Amino acid sequence: MGCSKNLVDSERLMRQLHVAGIEVMHDARLDEAPTVIVNTCGFIHQAREESVNMILQCVNAKNRGVIENLFVMGCLSEVYQKELEKEIPEVNRYFGVRSMEEIIRLLADDRLPDARNERTVTTPRHYAYLKIAEGCDRTCAFCSIPHIRGAHLSVPPEDLMEEARFLAANGTKELLVISQDITSYGTDLYRRQMLPELLKRLCTVDGVEWVRLHYAYPLHFPMELVEMMQNERKICRYIDLPIQHIADRVLKNMRRNITGAEIARLIDDIRNKMPDIALRTTLITGHPGETDRDFEQLARFVEQTRFDRLGVFTYSHEENTYAAKHYRDGVPEKVKRERAARIMEIQKNISEELNLLKKGKIWKTIIDRAEGDYWVGRTEYDSPDVDMEVLVPLKDRPLQIGRFYPVRITDATEYDLYGQITDDF
Ligand code: SF4
Repeated sequence: MGCSKNLVDSERLMRQLHVAGIEVMHDARLDEAPTVIVNTCGFIHQAREESVNMILQCVNAKNRGVIENLFVMGCLSEVYQKELEKEIPEVNRYFGVRSMEEIIRLLADDRLPDARNERTVTTPRHYAYLKIAEGCDRTCAFCSIPHIRGAHLSVPPEDLMEEARFLAANGTKELLVISQDITSYGTDLYRRQMLPELLKRLCTVDGVEWVRLHYAYPLHFPMELVEMMQNERKICRYIDLPIQHIADRVLKNMRRNITGAEIARLIDDIRNKMPDIALRTTLITGHPGETDRDFEQLARFVEQTRFDRLGVFTYSHEENTYAAKHYRDGVPEKVKRERAARIMEIQKNISEELNLLKKGKIWKTIIDRAEGDYWVGRTEYDSPDVDMEVLVPLKDRPLQIGRFYPVRITDATEYDLYGQITDDF
């Protein structure tokens, strides 16, 4: 359950159990294994509900004798272990987010295989997430992550290099660099930002062709990162830079410690240095205190800035957050949703305009899968599951999943590109 960071935890656990001689499956049917582990999400209400429903499904299977053992780990049980133990006692044992070793020792008869920098990749094997840190030191009012995952902890670069080499040796060509805030990488270990240096090293790993950046925090954004991207062609010209809002009053309420003008300047600086970069961002509508005027400012900013990729969420009043302790959830749900829909309408038009400009261009495209009448792929400007896809007719020619091909874009809609394999590249 949950995000890519949770998925990496599952993949690390699966690998270590495998090395300890235990057969492990991912998201399999409940009747396929006597022991089930649910890795839960606790970020927002809806996600918690989904995790509890999954636990209850497993309890039902246990009560029917379909499974023997049920264990729960991850963000939900990190925060609500006591409540869960009382309300759902059928679970053999609950674990938090820092219990990997405990789980392995319990399931592997106290053995602890030395495979901590290895993974059982559950994504298509040509791409994999690389989680470079855990936790977060930021203070965003709406966010419970620091409460759940604790302070920012960078993974030592040697461990990440070993993990990247392991992934590449097993077919990974695209590394998606993730954490809660990648720009803080190294600040705990070396008292300075180390992301550019880490990326430079990751680009030396044989087999890795693309390195993609997710979750960059706008404050103290290391501009040398963009300079390094210009020299390191393996680093996708793509940055995911969640700004959440642009109105100063809302940014202040959100405790983002940055102003709208500083965000706008950062985006200009990045684009001046690298005009063809694809910028993805995430926004929140309906944060406590957001007025019509603040929202209109955000809508105008989205129209003017023309982000390449954009996601928007409605504010969720979450326990264990600064906002829940200090603010009233004053914006009606209906208004939150209307504002989010308006932003997505603006973005849909922008996305279509930007996509139509791509007709005739040729891009290095990785094929992720075959679906219906198409091979489905992505360019360096698109991340899996959240961004656009390139659709190449299946009948054109047989392609290999996980391989790169030059694709000429022949048509576009607001969210997809259509293309043909070309030899003139
Ligand atoms: S940067 Fe802010 S929103 Fe992101 S995980 Fe940290 S506290 Fe949460």
